[in-house]
Amino acid sequence: MTRPISKTTFQEFLFCPKNMWLKLHKPELLEQFALSEYEQRLAEEGNEVEACARTLFPGGVEVQSFGEKACEETARLIASHTSPIFQATGIVDGFLARSDVLSYDNGTDMWDLYEIKGTSSVHTSGSDRNHLDDLAFQLSVHRRLGVPIGRCFVTHLNSDYVRSSELDVSELFTTEDVTSLVFDRLPDVEAKMAAALEYLGRTDEPVIGCECQYRGRSNQCTTFAYSHPEVPAYSVHDLSRIGASKKKLQWLVERNIFDLIEVPLDEIALSDIQVNQINVHHRQTPMISPDAIRDELEPLQFPLYFLDYETFAPAIPLFPGYGPFDKIPFQFSLHILRTKEGELEHVEYLHPDKTDPTESVAVLLHEHIGAKGTIIAWNKSFEMDVHKRIAYRLPQFAPLIERMQGMFYDLKDVFHKQHYVHPDFKGSVSIKYVLPAIVPSLQYKELSIHGGAQASDAWWTMVTSDMPEERQLIAKDLKTYCGLDTYAMYAIWKHLRELW
Ligand code: SF4
Repeated sequence: MTRPISKTTFQEFLFCPKNMWLKLHKPELLEQFALSEYEQRLAEEGNEVEACARTLFPGGVEVQSFGEKACEETARLIASHTSPIFQATGIVDGFLARSDVLSYDNGTDMWDLYEIKGTSSVHTSGSDRNHLDDLAFQLSVHRRLGVPIGRCFVTHLNSDYVRSSELDVSELFTTEDVTSLVFDRLPDVEAKMAAALEYLGRTDEPVIGCECQYRGRSNQCTTFAYSHPEVPAYSVHDLSRIGASKKKLQWLVERNIFDLIEVPLDEIALSDIQVNQINVHHRQTPMISPDAIRDELEPLQFPLYFLDYETFAPAIPLFPGYGPFDKIPFQFSLHILRTKEGELEHVEYLHPDKTDPTESVAVLLHEHIGAKGTIIAWNKSFEMDVHKRIAYRLPQFAPLIERMQGMFYDLKDVFHKQHYVHPDFKGSVSIKYVLPAIVPSLQYKELSIHGGAQASDAWWTMVTSDMPEERQLIAKDLKTYCGLDTYAMYAIWKHLRELW
C-alpha cells in the first residue's frame, strides 16, 4: 500500500477491517459506496461546523496544501511558533494526520490538539467514530515527528444552546479536556495502527475479516453478499430486530440456517413478530386480523387529517429559537377526509426560501385542522416533536398545538401490533414496505425523491439555488414526494377500512 493511512481510513478500519481493505484494493466492487447526496451533505455539514468553530481560534493559519507540501508547511509554522494552525499535517511511518487545530501553549512550550466534532458529546466508546481514538491517532503521529503535545481537547456542539437573533459561537460549542483519556488510550491505539498497517497492506485478499453473518441486515455493508455468497438475499439476517438478539442469530448461523424457510420454529424461541414474518414468508400469503383492525380504526373520529412533515436539521442553527440539529419544518402535506364517504381534500405547503417557516406552518395548521377529529401520521412521534418545537418558538400557538397533540393516531400501529402481516413487508413496518405490498399501484421507487433525507437535501439545494428552473423542478418533486406520503396513508387506511 503506497498511500499512508489517514485518520479516516484508520477509523474505518476499526469499524470493519475487511470493508476498508475492499475499499482500498477492490474499489470496483464498491461503487455502491459512492457518497449519496445525503452523505455528501453530512460531510459538507462537518466542514461547516469546523469553519464555524474556527472562529473560536482567532488568528489561525490554515495549511492549504496536501501531502508532503502540507507537512513542510506545517513544520515551518511549528518551528516559527505560528499558532493556532488549522489542518496541521504530519506523515510518518505510513500514517497521515491532519489535525483540526494545533495550538501553541507558551506556558508549557507544548502544542495542544483540538478535534472539532459536529456531535453533541464526546464519543468515548465503540470502534466507530470514537473521538478519543481519533485524537490518539493524531497524538501518535505528531509525537513520532517530534512535536511535543501537551493537552487534547474535543470541541463539540452544545445541545442546550438555543440561538437568539445572532449566532453566539462561543455558546454554540463546548470544549472538553480529554488529555488523560487520550494518553491512556495511546498504547492500545498504536497497537491497532500497527495492525491496520499490516492488514491493509496485504496484497492478497484477507480470508477472514467479514463477521457480519452475526449482525442484522441494517449493520451490514453492501459487500456482504460478496463475502457471503452462501446467504440468500432475504435471509435470517432480515428477521425483525434480529440484530438485537445476537445469540439467536448466532445459533442460526452456526447451524448454517440462512433461509427463513429452514428455521426450526420448535427449536428456537423467536418473538411473535419474527415467527409471523417466517410464517407469512413460508405461505406467501398475508396474515390479516379484520376484527383487530376494526377495533383499532373504528374509534378514530372524523375528520381524518393525514399529516406528514419534511424537515431540514442543520448542525448550526440558522434561525432564532433553534438549537443544533433542530428540525426546520420546511414542508407539509395534509389530506383531509371529513366523513367516511366524503371527498378527499388536499392542503400542502412548501417553504420557498431560506427563512424560518414556523409561522407560515402554524398559521396553516390553525386554518385547516379543526377542534375535533384525528390526526393520522406514520411514526407520530416525529410529527409531534415538530409540533412541540413550533409551540416552543411561537408560544401564541401553544394552545392549538397542545390540542392537536391529543388528536394523533399512529397508523403504523396496525402493522406494529401484527394485525396485518404481509410477506412483502419483510419484517418491516416502514411505509416504504407497507404501501407497495398493500396498494401496489402506489410506489415510491418511481419518484425522483424517495426518502426523507433526500427531501431534506433537495430543499436545501432549492433554497440555495439561483437557477429558477432548478428551483421549480425541485419544488415539483418535493410536492409529489410529500403528497404521496399522506395519500399513501389515506390509501392504506381505506384498504384496511374495507376489510371489515
Ligand atoms: S458486511 Fe460487515 S463485516 Fe463484512 S465487510 Fe461489510 S461491514 Fe465488514
